[in-house]
Amino acid sequence: MSEEQKRAVLMECHDNPGTGNHNGVRGTRNRAIAGYFWPTLTNDVANWVRCCHRGQLNDPIKTMAPVLHSIKVKEAWEVVGLDLFGPMCETARRNKYVLTMTDLYTKWIVAEPLQTKSASEVSAAIIGKLYIFGMVRKGRSLLTKAKSLSTRMKEQIKISNVH
Ligand SMILES: [Zn+2]
Repeated sequence: MSEEQKRAVLMECHDNPGTGNHNGVRGTRNRAIAGYFWPTLTNDVANWVRCCHRGQLNDPIKTMAPVLHSIKVKEAWEVVGLDLFGPMCETARRNKYVLTMTDLYTKWIVAEPLQTKSASEVSAAIIGKLYIFGMVRKGRSLLTKAKSLSTRMKEQIKISNVH
């Protein structure tokens, strides 16, 4: 079984509201072994469930809501909300973190998977998106609530945003 197929099984047996319903480790494993088997199944299920439930604690939607109301935005891409969450279940490409950039005007969200939350990787991802979608307006520009974004990282972003 390929890694992708295993992920599909784990998702089906755990995440899917109809079949998995975010069961615990035992419930998820029982569901999985009813239809599938691979040597590391028990371990994979335990990791998957643990990561899944830890990831939910960092749900960015909930933490961003209060900020959105207090800011007046007049046009698209004027103010962009940043959030970094993880670590979550590692994907086949070894990504563990997700950076989201939310346009506060249209509520449009750009998400970028990341392998680490290092300053260089996060700021490179942000700058990459700014090159694709355009620089946000100088002044209020990028807004971040993510505690995990370091000061150094914010400085890097600010510098690239001005140029
Ligand atoms: Zn779950």
